[in-house]
Amino acid sequence: MATPFGSMGVRDIQRGLAAKEFSAAEVARASFERIEAADGVVHSFLETTEALAADAAIRIDTAIAEGRLAEMGPLAGVPVGYKDNMNLTGTHTTCSSNMLRDYVSPYTATCVEHTLRAGALPIGKLNMDEFAFGSSTETSAFGPTRNPWDIERVPGGSSGGSAAAVAAGLVPVSLGSDTGGSIRQPGAFCGLVAVKPTYGVVSRYGVVAFGSSLDQVGPFARSVEDAALALNALAGRDELDCTSQPCDVDFTANLAEGVRGMKVGVVRAFMEAEGLTAEVKAKVEEAAAVLRDAGAEIVEVELPHAQAAMSAYYVLGPCEAFSNLARFDSVRYGYCDPGHKDLGSQYEASRAAGFGPEAKRRIMLGSYLLSAGVYDTYYYPAQQVRTLITQDYAAAYERCDVILTPVAPRTAFKFGEISDPTEMYLSDMFTISINIAGNGGMSVPVGLGAQTGLPVGVQLIAPPFRDANMFRAAAALEQHYGVAPVAPDFADGKVGA
Ligand code: GLN
Repeated sequence: MATPFGSMGVRDIQRGLAAKEFSAAEVARASFERIEAADGVVHSFLETTEALAADAAIRIDTAIAEGRLAEMGPLAGVPVGYKDNMNLTGTHTTCSSNMLRDYVSPYTATCVEHTLRAGALPIGKLNMDEFAFGSSTETSAFGPTRNPWDIERVPGGSSGGSAAAVAAGLVPVSLGSDTGGSIRQPGAFCGLVAVKPTYGVVSRYGVVAFGSSLDQVGPFARSVEDAALALNALAGRDELDCTSQPCDVDFTANLAEGVRGMKVGVVRAFMEAEGLTAEVKAKVEEAAAVLRDAGAEIVEVELPHAQAAMSAYYVLGPCEAFSNLARFDSVRYGYCDPGHKDLGSQYEASRAAGFGPEAKRRIMLGSYLLSAGVYDTYYYPAQQVRTLITQDYAAAYERCDVILTPVAPRTAFKFGEISDPTEMYLSDMFTISINIAGNGGMSVPVGLGAQTGLPVGVQLIAPPFRDANMFRAAAALEQHYGVAPVAPDFADGKVGA
């Protein structure tokens, strides 16, 4: 029987490599074969990087031949995909936008570099909502990604390609970025472990900026341990990003510890939120019971200003996006509409053609919110709300080690089902306040919803730089629910119904 690479995790691959059951070159090849066979349906990859993977595989296979596999890092021989807002020298980095359709990275982002240094096999670049604006991957200029659990449905977003590639068993690990929920929400929709670390744990250097004070990179995987191993590779101080912090935590260290003695906070207002579906609510309650049965103490905590997080985010996010997107002006970066005699009309025509509707909406919103006279009315109060929310979390953490909430109010929706932008924004009602406060949050799969039969995730949130707390609780949930499977239609080498 052929080796079932699609369902393997990091340790399975490394065990097989160490036992010489297969080579790193074969692992890479298997990943590309899976993509070839199944990604026509899923459409998670925008570009594959066979030559880079082959080079990386040679380094691993040489190390194995010389008995040095253990020195090759936590991701040695592991296929990894990257969201297409992460630079990797020689690859296109499009942010799924016509604006950057032809842009080729002249350098490599630190987060990508860290995975390569840890021995990863770079497989390619993954589809996303344009410039990471969205919750469904429907705003990609290159067409949507499908959810491997039900190809009629969205994978979530904006890191939908990163989630779908792991859920379909094309790669065991991928990277996404999260400004308001873009790792955790697609993680929940695709039934994965998906981590947004504390702001500053992972360098943002070389990741195309959306909201610089909110953006954070993190991993997708099917198991808690794989996500922890990936974060071990990613984390740490980078001289090229002054907001990054030193990190010497081993995120795998406390996975076997259990949750006895841990205090898990639940937020009643979140559980009673309008729009939260019965099946998601039931799963969060079930997860709380699982943690309690495993020895944790459940305590109620309050986040009184969290209901203002959405409003603050849709002021701060567009303001930061507006200023970050100014560089795509057809001269410094981005599509250049030909034939203009003056720069003004070249700017206008290039930006009109290069950006899609959601990007334009954010740019217009940000430019208005930052204009003279308006700034004091919106931007300044939004920053004050940010402080209040951060203080809410700090107060909550005096009573608990980790907070348990829903990730998204519902399971994956159908293509086109949500067409009103403000309704789409509500997808992130439970994730946004975490980016506002800057602490870490992760999505953990807890099985399928009773009504829709689709994956449901719960969110674990930890105090700043205590991300290890949420991994510890996540491992206890995984103990109960089992390691997340590849989506059934893509399991055992299948390539979609
Ligand atoms: N869905 C949110 C938005 O559209 C969050 C996106 C993200 O985290 N990148 O802004």
